[in-house]
Amino acid sequence: MGRTSKDKRDVYYRLAKENGWRARSAFKLLQLDEEFQLFQGVTRAVDLCAAPGSWSQVLSQKIGGQGSGHVVAVDLQAMAPLPGVLQIQGDITQLSTAKEIIQHFEGCPADLVVCDGAPDVTGLHDVDEYMQAQLLLAALNIATHVLKPGGCFVAKIFRGRDVTLIYSQLRVFFSTVLCAKPKSSRNSSIEAFAVCKGYDPPEGFLPDLTKPLLDHSYVCHRSILSPTPRETPLACGDSRLRRLSHVPDPDFNQLDGPTRIIVPFVTCGDLSAYDSDRSYPLDLEDGSEYKYTPPTQPPISPPYQEACTLKKKGRLAKEMRPQDCPISTVDTLPQ
Ligand code: SAM
Repeated sequence: MGRTSKDKRDVYYRLAKENGWRARSAFKLLQLDEEFQLFQGVTRAVDLCAAPGSWSQVLSQKIGGQGSGHVVAVDLQAMAPLPGVLQIQGDITQLSTAKEIIQHFEGCPADLVVCDGAPDVTGLHDVDEYMQAQLLLAALNIATHVLKPGGCFVAKIFRGRDVTLIYSQLRVFFSTVLCAKPKSSRNSSIEAFAVCKGYDPPEGFLPDLTKPLLDHSYVCHRSILSPTPRETPLACGDSRLRRLSHVPDPDFNQLDGPTRIIVPFVTCGDLSAYDSDRSYPLDLEDGSEYKYTPPTQPPISPPYQEACTLKKKGRLAKEMRPQDCPISTVDTLPQ
């Protein structure tokens, strides 16, 4: 594959390089902001799962805050520095990382928390969706500690089997929850973004990092979903949480009537915006000769680096075909 073939296939990848963004994802956040005015009045923001940093670039350029720390960027991977962005390297599902982020916002909460986190996709849809949901809930948990009332939370979501449960959990904390698909996000991808506005936790809610996530045996009473109080699943700690050992594990995706959450699905980005599923010719508008632009900021220590080095030395293990296995696993299975 030539170095320009990706430019041709993926117009947002090419535009990102031409506009100085570190990743094409920058357009997703920009298009979400166009639709929902996410940055209005925002001076402090958290960017969870931020590497290589295009969302942090957008935030540091578009929001009103000053000085290092008005944007806090967190990722498992190291990220090249950005002006005004404080970086924390860590796993957002770990207590220690969450504590570090929360400490930064003590006494001065954030207006916006964004999370573009994605696990390394395995291709096993259930596993990928589960991992994605865990990232989202870890992000939500952090958001409940650092967001100011009325604040906004935006997170990547996979529209899979359990998405209704996640919407229900988000609705517990935000007055508006909807699902958005920016034009720069490929139709072929199940990714979308949960856009949650108006942070408004249940009365008496005390954020608690030690409470388990996605545990169906926790329920809370909240009348938010219907005029009469009903039991609603909750992601994070709540002083009114109670464990109902006598209640069988409910399937929240089967909720009916007023407890069933159907959130609006909104596409965003100008209708004339580029289609992320199409290939475009390289000499786009003015017919001038195409010039290759190198990536703005190549990843500083990508996880694939070791594999590339091993491959160059011919030491990367090859996938084993069944006929190469010394003992057939079929033979060793109990009858
Ligand atoms: N929004 C970024 C940008 O614009 O440059 C792109 C984010 S990329 C799609 C997903 C990121 O999620 C990866 O950098 C990955 O390291 C990070 N990630 C995945 N699991 C994580 C975790 N448990 N904690 C922190 N970061 C995580």
